[in-house]
Amino acid sequence: MEKDIYFMALGGGQRVGASCYYLKLGGSNLILDAGTGISDGIVFEPELYSLITSPFIQSMNQIDQIYISHAHLDHLGYLLKIMRDAGKAGVYMTEITALLAEYQLYDRDFVYRGKGEEKRLAAKNLLDRIARVSYMKQIDFGKYKVTFLPAGHIPGAMMLLFEFGKRRILYTGDYSLERTALTNGCVVPADIPIDTVIMCGLHAKHPDYVKKGDALFGRVQDALRIVEETGVSVLCRIQQLSKGIEFIKTLSEWNVNKIPIFLDRQVMDVVLKMEQMSIPIMDMEHRGVGQIPPKLPHILITNRRKGFFGRFYKEVNIEFSLHGDFSDMQEFIRKVNPKKAVIVHCAKEHSSLDQTIEQVMMKDGECRTQFIFAEEKEIYQL
Ligand SMILES: [Zn+2]
Ligand SMILES: [Zn+2]
Repeated sequence: MEKDIYFMALGGGQRVGASCYYLKLGGSNLILDAGTGISDGIVFEPELYSLITSPFIQSMNQIDQIYISHAHLDHLGYLLKIMRDAGKAGVYMTEITALLAEYQLYDRDFVYRGKGEEKRLAAKNLLDRIARVSYMKQIDFGKYKVTFLPAGHIPGAMMLLFEFGKRRILYTGDYSLERTALTNGCVVPADIPIDTVIMCGLHAKHPDYVKKGDALFGRVQDALRIVEETGVSVLCRIQQLSKGIEFIKTLSEWNVNKIPIFLDRQVMDVVLKMEQMSIPIMDMEHRGVGQIPPKLPHILITNRRKGFFGRFYKEVNIEFSLHGDFSDMQEFIRKVNPKKAVIVHCAKEHSSLDQTIEQVMMKDGECRTQFIFAEEKEIYQL
């Protein structure tokens, strides 16, 4: 019994948002990620009730460790709430994830918006419990070991490799095989035998979806060209902070004509924090912050969802993907060749004719992988 491994998605199963997974390695109770999601403008959260009414634990106080793969809110947004319930759990993430977590879960609410002092202290106490881990380092908890691998995707993102007895389980979180503006691609553990991969399958049902590697560059070029050719200032709204940083980095690199780039205070604070951690984002000479934007045509970057900036701006949408696509997933599975792949964080088919990664990989003679498309609140023995 104490050698058995169980898995349950508490959120982020066959949909995107509220990623939160329970993993039981014998006597150890782990949580992988604690995110929130948004559907039709309404925030949704993971469902912990199904866990504490399961045969495994009766209270969240029995959770031993919580791991956060990266700082996107669909993996992080529920952290403070789950930490409050799981009061005895150690909490682990990389230094950069911790920094971005602090910004998104603390600074935004307490420094900028000034919600009450009592709530601020409570949040601060929780964040002080976070242990910062480094890539390629291992922690040995006695009952199991865990190693942290770079996941690509965004700065600070990690994959987790668990060793439990003779068995190895890899949780990918969100990953990218290719390098992005701010990360090298993920490290694929190809030479060690892995039994089970729990993987982000955002595009596991989209065989025709091919990531456009140049989408980010397209957006950057749009922004620069509008200012250069029309003399109108451009407004870029950042939805996800770390994506915004990728955008700023690329914009700064391509800005050969030195158009002024103006960041609002919150965005600038994050840029400065990243730079303090030796992640260069933009050069000093053409950036402004704080005061009123310059009279000259410029690019203004803000994380305000709406708002009036007192002058006319042309708005440029800066959506782009940092996820691997269908062929990346195939390549990843081929390299790791696990016995089982548990697919989570999985968006719906685009059409009923779409084949899944399972149907496509079955035709691959070398592939020995059995696929599980994990449904939320179902228990799987791995
Ligand atoms: Zn992500
Ligand atoms: Zn995600």
